[in-house]
Amino acid sequence: MVDIKHVLNWLNEFASLIEQNKAYLSELDTPIGDGDHGNNMSRGVQAMQSQFTQASLNEVSDIFKTTAMALMSNIGGASGPLYGSAFMEMAKAAKDSHDLPTIIQAGLNGITKRGKAMIGEKTMVDVWQSVCDALLANQLTQQVIDNAVASTQPMLATKGRASYVGERSKGHLDPGAVSSGYLFTSMLNNIK
Ligand code: ADP
Ligand code: MG
Repeated sequence: MVDIKHVLNWLNEFASLIEQNKAYLSELDTPIGDGDHGNNMSRGVQAMQSQFTQASLNEVSDIFKTTAMALMSNIGGASGPLYGSAFMEMAKAAKDSHDLPTIIQAGLNGITKRGKAMIGEKTMVDVWQSVCDALLANQLTQQVIDNAVASTQPMLATKGRASYVGERSKGHLDPGAVSSGYLFTSMLNNIK
């Protein structure tokens, strides 16, 4: 259920997964980026969790909005405004609907509006789009998430910092796809 308790459990588990995999995320960002994705995400989720204890969270929409602001102003890298836009659009959608596919679709729209990436460009969009499609078809499983993350490995990056290394971007997982994979794994574990 998309209610306050389950959404908080979801995002707190996401924060744990980021903390546990912080070094791994930065390692993934080293050959095709600047090696900061784990540290960026960690700063973001720590700020998010500290806001959860301070902000007044009366509805699901408040949680997403608080998350958006914490991620946007603390992540630093390109992924900050992208995750920030996703959660801001999710906050708007959650005002009218507690339907999970509708909310995730709104988040994806926020990312593509800001970053202009499409599926196949080796970004977090590859995971968000696959998850969104599966949710709309009521077929989201851990396998769908894992496959979407793995699909970024052979891709050529054409957006973001990874596009600077051109052909050498092939053969590496996209760090933002991996962190988005954690977001959806924790969603699957908490939102029934
Ligand atoms: P930076 O690239 O500024 O160092 P991060 O390392 O925190 O920022 O985040 C990199 C991740 O951001 C990439 O792995 C990719 O998933 C995502 N990303 C970068 N540009 C875009 C974009 N235009 N659209 C969607 N996602 C993007
Ligand atoms: Mg980086």
